[in-house]
Amino acid sequence: MKALVKYAQGKDNMEIRDVPVPTIEADEVLIKVKYTGICGSDLKILADEHPYYPPVITGHEFSGEIVEVGKAVEGWKEGDRVVSELHTKKCGVCSLCRTGEWYVCKSKRAPGWGIDGAFAEYVKMPAWLLHRIPDNVSFKEAAVTEPVAVAVNAVLERTKVEPGDFVAVLGCGPLGLIAAQLAKAVGASASLITGTEKDEGARLPAARKLGIDHVVNVQRQDPVALVRELTNGTGADLVVDFAGAQPALLQGFEMVRIHGRFCAVGVPPTDMVEVPWKALIYKGVDVVFNFSSKYTSWKRALQMMATGRLDVNPLITHVLPLEDWHEGFELAKRGEAIKVLLTPEKL
Ligand SMILES: [Zn+2]
Ligand SMILES: [Zn+2]
Repeated sequence: MKALVKYAQGKDNMEIRDVPVPTIEADEVLIKVKYTGICGSDLKILADEHPYYPPVITGHEFSGEIVEVGKAVEGWKEGDRVVSELHTKKCGVCSLCRTGEWYVCKSKRAPGWGIDGAFAEYVKMPAWLLHRIPDNVSFKEAAVTEPVAVAVNAVLERTKVEPGDFVAVLGCGPLGLIAAQLAKAVGASASLITGTEKDEGARLPAARKLGIDHVVNVQRQDPVALVRELTNGTGADLVVDFAGAQPALLQGFEMVRIHGRFCAVGVPPTDMVEVPWKALIYKGVDVVFNFSSKYTSWKRALQMMATGRLDVNPLITHVLPLEDWHEGFELAKRGEAIKVLLTPEKL
């Protein structure tokens, strides 16, 4: 089968290769891949800025159809439409695993970097990680379930949006655009999203179309002053950062209200960032760092899409054949696209 393989450590070192179709174990299923989204972490693997174990097939945000079921698997059959959580190789015995938090187990090695992923014609997954795609959710939409689950975990589970909250989302990539919609869907009084000049191509216009209340290009308007004005000087109840950029973080810490919440998801380019420590202490801000997603995040993500409370279609700006992965990666990198999907099937 065709697969996009990161074949050695270092920059680039990625190409389409002909590799064997995976052979499944008793507890696994073989999935025929329909669509796989390009994620920021895929770009980082290409650039050698993210852990990976070469040679490895990249890609983790996928939807597909079961074509083979392992001997010990119950409840799944050929033809079932599925997406999958990514907590493969969890150890099963550490305290995190034993308390159901295996999505952050240190041994975890997810598809796409730790084990073979889904920029391929087929991918295999353990059956216990699967979720059924609701009938009214398309394979294209379902390919975006993983980023939706990450946003759900951050915004609805770790820092719960409360009815009436003013929610400010920093960064208008796919996660930010999803999070701002989710906040409104569960009762935020208003959501605000920020971006920069380079997002004027696709992302900020999409935010305006999606009905996010306040869409701010920070190079044209001061988001902190705007939040103050919109909240009668109080500040945002919840700030969620997906940008991971120093200037955005400082703005976020400034716009959060006294006893507000701050959720950090965006990964900064440097190991260290500056934080206005004293100001945050005196404001008594709850800061939550967040990573990955769990069973309930996936369940909620699929429900939000199935009930139409979250529309991911406007985020899917490009669908390309797997062979054109390089063009897809370039589009994603330049921010001209929002979510780019690759498909191994004929378009
Ligand atoms: Zn991802
Ligand atoms: Zn563990």
